[in-house]
Amino acid sequence: MDDVDIIKDIVNIDFFDRLNNKKCLYSNCSNHSINNSHILQKSTILKSISDNNNVYTYLPSSFKNDLYKETDAKLVKRQINNATVFSGFCSFHDNNIFRLIEDDINQSSDALYAFLYSYRSFIYSFLIKKIMVSTNISRSVEGKVLEKYGKKYFEIFKRMVELKPKKTTIFNDEISRFKKSKLDYENIISDDGSVGNFNERFLIYTNRLKNNDKLAIINTTLLKQNNRFNSEQPITFGILPNNDSKDPIFFIVSSVLDNQLFNDLVSLYKYNHREFLNFYLNLEISDVVAINPTYFESLKYHDNLSRVILFDNTFD
Ligand SMILES: [Zn+2]
Repeated sequence: MDDVDIIKDIVNIDFFDRLNNKKCLYSNCSNHSINNSHILQKSTILKSISDNNNVYTYLPSSFKNDLYKETDAKLVKRQINNATVFSGFCSFHDNNIFRLIEDDINQSSDALYAFLYSYRSFIYSFLIKKIMVSTNISRSVEGKVLEKYGKKYFEIFKRMVELKPKKTTIFNDEISRFKKSKLDYENIISDDGSVGNFNERFLIYTNRLKNNDKLAIINTTLLKQNNRFNSEQPITFGILPNNDSKDPIFFIVSSVLDNQLFNDLVSLYKYNHREFLNFYLNLEISDVVAINPTYFESLKYHDNLSRVILFDNTFD
């Protein structure tokens, strides 16, 4: 093994340690997280776009490459059992909070449906962001590296991790904005899964699509474009496919603090769906993605992978 291979191996050890989030991410819960919370529900969303129970998706580990800017994250083919899963919540919260987008979908309005999906993907994006920005090396990683490669390589790795935030564009300010948003969500979503009046803190736009059995995609992001288009808190954009209980929808969920921006975004979307999606909901910038394999191959063929290209019959 040469030096580069050793450092790559150490980066792996560290990344998987970070990813293995052990505690439930719902506020003040000290239960262990389960390691297979689906962000996109398996039997409705994923099933409806799969071929032979397969979809193309990002794995959480895909983002490892982003960490040191090696290469871009790659979409991979996965069984829906293992697609869009992460260690997010304990079994109690995983079952209770998302009941209205899993078992009792018929009882949830489009706005509530979009709101709960925005929360779950928000939690996932926040976890990935924290993994990217943290410069702490856990004791167990330190021990493993020292044992396997010795002090010299541990020191090199430590230096790399310390330099990391300067290489990424993620700043502590972003983390604090995500934290505020998390508080807002969890003020409304109770422990037992009941959801209060989300209109007090969030603005939700939903648009039922005519047809979409090709993809599910969600992007949670702080907008930083210019003075007019900077968001106070993360905004979530999403497209979900049709399934037995719901028509396909597009949604935007933002904080009420971003009222003006939200209205502008909705206008932009209405003005030109395609341009809007290419800009705010493309495959390069969205953490949560699941695509029908045949459709994915056709995108690849046309070299359109950076863009969400929905079929013309998606919109009215
Ligand atoms: Zn919990």
